[in-house]
Amino acid sequence: MNTTWKILLASISALALAGCGDSSSEPETSGTVQAVSTFSILTDIVEEIGGEHVEVYNLVPVGQDPHEYESTPSDTKALSDADVFFVNGLNLEGGEQGWAARMANSVEMEEDRFVETTNGVEPLYLTEGVVDSVNPHAFLDPNVGVIMAENIAATLVEIDPENAQIYQDNADAYVGELTAMHEQYQQEIGDLEEDRRVLVTSERAFQYMAARYDLLEGYIWSVDTDDIGTPDQIISTIDFVEEHQPPALFLESNVASAPMETVSEDTGVEIYATVFSDELAAEGEPGDTYLGLLEENLTRISEGLQQ
Ligand SMILES: [Zn+2]
Repeated sequence: MNTTWKILLASISALALAGCGDSSSEPETSGTVQAVSTFSILTDIVEEIGGEHVEVYNLVPVGQDPHEYESTPSDTKALSDADVFFVNGLNLEGGEQGWAARMANSVEMEEDRFVETTNGVEPLYLTEGVVDSVNPHAFLDPNVGVIMAENIAATLVEIDPENAQIYQDNADAYVGELTAMHEQYQQEIGDLEEDRRVLVTSERAFQYMAARYDLLEGYIWSVDTDDIGTPDQIISTIDFVEEHQPPALFLESNVASAPMETVSEDTGVEIYATVFSDELAAEGEPGDTYLGLLEENLTRISEGLQQ
C-alpha cells in the first residue's frame, strides 16, 4: 500500500469515526438535514419532500446503472457526514450484500438511518416463487411513489421534528400530484383497446406498472444485471411480438439499442419511443423529475399503443 492510500484511508476512518462519534440524532450544524440517496429518481422524491430543509447527495448519476455501482471517495465522505441514507430497496441496490449496504457498513451507519423507501410495497418477482428474484422497479407505478414519499416524510419528521409540519405538507401536496398521475394512467391506458395493451421493452422494468394497469408485458431480458440481449432472448421476444402483435416497441433510455432494433427489423414493428426505467432524463429534458418521468412514460406508451 502506498503512502497516499494510507493517508486517504486514515482520513476516511477518521471521518467515519467523527460521523458516528456524536451518536445524537441532531442534524448537522448547518441546520439542514444531510441526506444521501442512491439514484436520480429517489433523489428527486427526497428533494420534493425535504424542500429547503434537506440537502441531498445523489450517488448514481444519470447515465450509470443503479443495479451495480462503484462508489467514489467523495460518496463515502458524503455518507459518513449524512444524517440519513435513503435507498430504493427491493434489491435495486443489490440487496443485503449489495453496494449500498456495503457503503453503509463501511461508514458504520446506524441501522435506523438506513431507510428502504419501498418499505410496505408488495414485491413482485421476476421468477415466480424465487424470493431473491424480486423486481426492483416498483417506482414506475405512481402508487408506489406515494408509499415512497410517505416513508421519506416519516423519516424526515423523526430526524428533524422541528420541521415536521413542513415535511408533512410537502408530502401531502406531492401525494396529491401522484394520485392525479395514477388517475391519468388509469384513464389513458384504460382507453386502449384490449388487443393494443401490450408493452414491449428491453428490460422487464414495467412489471409493477403493467400489473397495475392491466398491460401484457413483453421483454428481452429480466434484469440489467443478467445476460442481456442474447440470441435466445431476442428470438423469444420476436416470437412474443409475432404472437401478440403490439402496435409499437419501446426502448429504455439506459440500455443498448441493438437488441430491440433487431426485434424491430425482424418483426416490422417500429420502436416508437424511449421510455425511462432506471433513471431520470438528463436535466432540462422532459422527464427530468419523477413526476415528469411518469408523465413522459405514460404519454409515449399510450400514444405508441394507440397508433
Ligand atoms: Zn433496471
